[in-house]
Amino acid sequence: MSGERKARRHCKAFTYAPKIDDVRSGKCKQTIRPLGDVQKGDIITFHGWNCKACGDEYEWNYKELYPFCPKCKTKHSYRTSLWSWRLEVEVKDVQLIEVYKEGIIWMGTFFAWNDLDRLAKKDGIRRIGDFGYGESMGFLLNKMYPKLPFYKRHSNRRPNGEPSMIIRWY
Ligand SMILES: [Zn+2]
Repeated sequence: MSGERKARRHCKAFTYAPKIDDVRSGKCKQTIRPLGDVQKGDIITFHGWNCKACGDEYEWNYKELYPFCPKCKTKHSYRTSLWSWRLEVEVKDVQLIEVYKEGIIWMGTFFAWNDLDRLAKKDGIRRIGDFGYGESMGFLLNKMYPKLPFYKRHSNRRPNGEPSMIIRWY
């Protein structure tokens, strides 16, 4: 059935400031997200968010729960924001994973965060203090999605957590 599916278009925002330049320059071509219906061949428009009040780009760092405007400190919401930069890409590869507080299940195997340095580097993650890349990614994902596993609260179908995905593009 999925073979018959037509390519679709998606929009996804980036607010993790350290990663934005890497994505825009093409250095980073990967993101880890809760499940949407993204498949190979789909087109994704990535974008940043600007503060409507003063035009500055929202930034997110591991100390905050929500992205905020660095100038006026407004918290990002869909009402207070406008799209800033945008980048259209074609999806090259999608891998389903399950994200837990302690690590991820990927290709049927559980990996603790400190075993995921390579994946985290590829994802454009910056180290937090003395934490390694993988541990820093775990810290960020736990902060961005306080109710890991992703979307468990929306589903009784998968008591062990909803799949997320590693999305890569050309
Ligand atoms: Zn502002």
